[in-house]
Amino acid sequence: MNEQSATPGEPAESSSMTAKAGKAGKDTWRSWGGNLTVKPAVIVRPENTDQVEQVLRDAAAQGLRVRPAGSGQSFSPLVPTSDVLLDATALSGLSSIDTEKQQVTVFGGTTIQQICQILEDHGLALANMPDFTGQTIAGAIATGTHGTGLGQPSLSEQITEITLATPSGELITCSESSHPEMLRAARVHLGVLGVIVSVTIQCVSAFRLHCAEFREPLDRLVDSLAERMSGADHFEFFWMPGRSTVHTRILSRLHRLPDTYTRPASPLSRALRRADDAVLRTSLTSGLGRLASMAPKTVPGLNTLESMSKSSRRYTDVSYRVFTAPRAVRFVSTEYALPLENTAAAFSELKDLVDREGYTLSFPVLVRCSPPEQGYLSPSAGRYTGWISLRQYGKRPYEEFFRAAEHIFLNHGGRPHWGVIHTQTAETLKPMYSNWDDFLAVRSELDPHGLLLNDHTRLLLGL
Ligand SMILES: Cc1cc2nc3c(=O)[nH]c(=O)nc-3n(C[C@H](O)[C@H](O)[C@H](O)COP(=O)(O)OP(=O)(O)OC[C@H]3O[C@@H](n4cnc5c(N)ncnc54)[C@H](O)[C@@H]3O)c2cc1C
Repeated sequence: MNEQSATPGEPAESSSMTAKAGKAGKDTWRSWGGNLTVKPAVIVRPENTDQVEQVLRDAAAQGLRVRPAGSGQSFSPLVPTSDVLLDATALSGLSSIDTEKQQVTVFGGTTIQQICQILEDHGLALANMPDFTGQTIAGAIATGTHGTGLGQPSLSEQITEITLATPSGELITCSESSHPEMLRAARVHLGVLGVIVSVTIQCVSAFRLHCAEFREPLDRLVDSLAERMSGADHFEFFWMPGRSTVHTRILSRLHRLPDTYTRPASPLSRALRRADDAVLRTSLTSGLGRLASMAPKTVPGLNTLESMSKSSRRYTDVSYRVFTAPRAVRFVSTEYALPLENTAAAFSELKDLVDREGYTLSFPVLVRCSPPEQGYLSPSAGRYTGWISLRQYGKRPYEEFFRAAEHIFLNHGGRPHWGVIHTQTAETLKPMYSNWDDFLAVRSELDPHGLLLNDHTRLLLGL
């Protein structure tokens, strides 16, 4: 099976089912975290809408199923299929831009990194974003990818229009004025509604962020968590299991001040900061965590080293450079969206669990927050949300800890992030979402024969 040979921008001439393997490499697809590997019947890498439609037509004619893939950065098996894996990453770049409305339309496989650079060139920015830029926009919104900040929308909520190639051969554009129910479904789409060809994002004027990072006592912070989250533009904290302090990050939006007050970092200080992020704050932390996992008796000494690696610092830079950090070390993750008011209690129980069972992680637990969302299947649908995320170096054991943590999160009304490791199925998921049936109705209208389903999405949706 071969990759399509059509020139970018031109329709595929030959059957896309004869295409050669995509960039995922030869005939095997592997997730970023390394926890998922699959050898599909074929990997295709369409470069334009015509080729996407051709893939869907050919698959339907041959009785094969299709799963779209972005950057493979989900940890749950949303992508794996034994049939056709449609690597959408070549479907990328700027489609159009309306600087007056501050709206940009990009192809579905465009990465967040590419989008940030396009926007920077036009004096624009994303209002809020995740802590990493490797995801594609279609893949990110599929799972409700979020950042932090109670007053700023996730990526899914920043979308005003989505164009999908559907299994029934249509190209449909949905927005608030045309197929609004489809837009609400597609805001968090799990890759089961169609192949996302392009999305339009409502952007904001470029702005700068001031970041203050510091260490503080855990107990005091947890006691006033909701207040602290609501008092900052963007609030997050990191907690290494076993420690009595946390590392807090508060980001303040500086866009109303003139340049003289909010000068971005010089190239040198920016380079030093990125090195600090990559080496001291990510790799060293995870390296020490791995050592601690292998030799638990060394934990007190390693924790002292870890705390030295995360000193206080303050800096200002262009927004996306502050929102994100390099992720040199691969990990696997679980994350739950909790009602904001239950987040502190859930976190305290998680800490008790760690104290009792002695679980260790290679990365700190990360706690963030987000506002209510409209997407039918958004984990933040209809409520202010606190997010608790656990990340473990993939070669270390994680199943038992993740499972025990999941139990706590569920007891507090948590909903799993769709892109992470969790054990929920339709039976438990359906009661969590008031628009569950609305999502299913849109799905069955767009894909009545389940061309886009795999085992995992069937299990999730009860199909
Ligand atoms: C280092 C790292 C940091 C992360 N940080 C965050 C974070 O800060 N916040 C957060 O919420 N999550 C975070 N995540 C999770 C990540 O954002 C999500 O799992 C996201 O969905 C991954 O996007 P992707 O492009 O890799 O898509 P994939 O993982 O490849 O696919 C995800 C889903 O999108 C579908 N899909 C992809 N492209 C298309 C398309 N063109 N049309 C239709 N369906 C499509 C797939 O079928 C699948 O269902 C992080 C993950 C990693 C590895």
